[in-house]
Amino acid sequence: MSKQDDSFKKLVSHCKEYGFIFQSSEIYDGLAAVYDYGPYGVELKNNIKQYWWESMVKMHENIVGIDAAIFMHPKTWKASGHIDAFNDPMIDNKDSKKRYRADQLVEEYVEKKVLKKANKEIEKARKRFGDDFDEEQYKTTNPRVMGYLEKAQTITTRLNTSLTNEDLEDVKALIEELEIACPESGSRNWTEVRQFNLMFNTQLGTIAGEAGKLYLRPETAQGIFVNFLNVQKTTRQKIPFGIAQIGKAFRNEIVARQFIFRMREFEQMEMQFFIRPGEQQKWYTYWKEARMKWHLAIHPTEKLRYHDHEKLAHYADAALDIEFQFPFGFRELEGIHSRTAFDLGSHQELSGKKLQYFDPELGESYVPYVLETSIGCDRMFLATMANALMEETVPDADGKDSTRIVLKVHPALAPVKCAVLPLLKNKEELTTKAREVFNNLKFAFNCQYDEKDAIGRRYRRQDAIGTPYCVTVDFDTLEDNTVTVRDRDTLEQVRIPISEVEAMVSGKVSMKNLLN
Ligand code: ATP
Repeated sequence: MSKQDDSFKKLVSHCKEYGFIFQSSEIYDGLAAVYDYGPYGVELKNNIKQYWWESMVKMHENIVGIDAAIFMHPKTWKASGHIDAFNDPMIDNKDSKKRYRADQLVEEYVEKKVLKKANKEIEKARKRFGDDFDEEQYKTTNPRVMGYLEKAQTITTRLNTSLTNEDLEDVKALIEELEIACPESGSRNWTEVRQFNLMFNTQLGTIAGEAGKLYLRPETAQGIFVNFLNVQKTTRQKIPFGIAQIGKAFRNEIVARQFIFRMREFEQMEMQFFIRPGEQQKWYTYWKEARMKWHLAIHPTEKLRYHDHEKLAHYADAALDIEFQFPFGFRELEGIHSRTAFDLGSHQELSGKKLQYFDPELGESYVPYVLETSIGCDRMFLATMANALMEETVPDADGKDSTRIVLKVHPALAPVKCAVLPLLKNKEELTTKAREVFNNLKFAFNCQYDEKDAIGRRYRRQDAIGTPYCVTVDFDTLEDNTVTVRDRDTLEQVRIPISEVEAMVSGKVSMKNLLN
């Protein structure tokens, strides 16, 4: 097992063992790609949502929020293009009976069979040349590396062209030419490539047949578009302004793997920013930078990168992803899309209702353009856990080295902010005092009282769920009303009066620290 596979496995089992994430309906052997958040998971997830919401709605006078319904009029999905174009190309292996996304098979081939070789050559050269190594120069002069990079580019361009032209026969031909085999059966016995619509549907009770067909929304954005004028009029916002929303979305993903990275039911945090036509480049740059800054407040630079889209969705004139280095490689975490007037324009056409804005400065009406930022809450959760979970060697109570598993999540996102621990369980004067401290602190932030097991074990339990501060009540507390506060990351312990604990912890766990 590779180091990456191992760390991912550990992450998944940590999430279960410590009550962050459970498989849905586990007692029935689970439901594929559907997950439940446990007691610590829901707290962390709520904090991620709060961080996003406050950075959008609280920090911008010209961004307001809504909470639209999951069900929408079926025409919504006709106008948005989801009925006709929200498809993934799928292919089945006739021997293993496994279904794959045809585009992902080709992309994986490029990554594993072509780019990996180029990277190996580059790393070898880096070692050989040491500090003098110039990667860019090497990539453009070494014939072998150039060959690999060119091959990767040729395959990617052909795949994108075939997908854009809906030439599924060519996608199949490409899979055959590259001799891609099914990872399960090892055979190259493939079906044709077909389009598969990703929307789940259900039936309205009162209307039979097609007319009563309803969809579970595959994105939250459309709830914002159809409410554009309602919101603009009731809040008297002027363009540019944005509408933010957090909510569930559903996609019948063909290949749902990698834990909560790709789920069939997930949550999105989306913001549509309505702008003047022609100003999309300016706002694209603005949101690209603003969103990266949001990520950088919690994740290190080297784990984040931009990826510009080559193949644009039907609604976009520019698009990029912010990618995060998950344990299985760099993958999309957030999308930033310049959606033009596509959505409002087609809702206007299909509904017959004007969705225009009168711009008092220009003295004219127009259908606004839209800049969208769209991030999966669950993917952000996974990124946060993957970045924060680590194994460390630290001195234990007797000064000997011991290993601890610690979740070094940003204090503002931590599920529990502070644990209150009486030094000993069976000394009533200690437990009574600790309860008193806990009962005061619980009004200020999420707090936990724990008296079970030796103090060292209780510290480890709090480390594993990411609690930034542990407050210990000991015999001195009874004399002088002071407690020790242990810092999760530095392990430093300071002695302060009980009356100062709330202010100290509040300052450290405040969302303000992330929003500044
Ligand atoms: P991908 O290429 O990974 O399928 P996408 O480009 O279809 O993603 P968007 O439609 O741009 O994704 O959705 C915006 C965000 O929603 C993504 O950046 C991702 O964080 C999240 N997201 C999309 N699909 C899923 C899913 N099946 N499970 C969890 N999160 C998802």
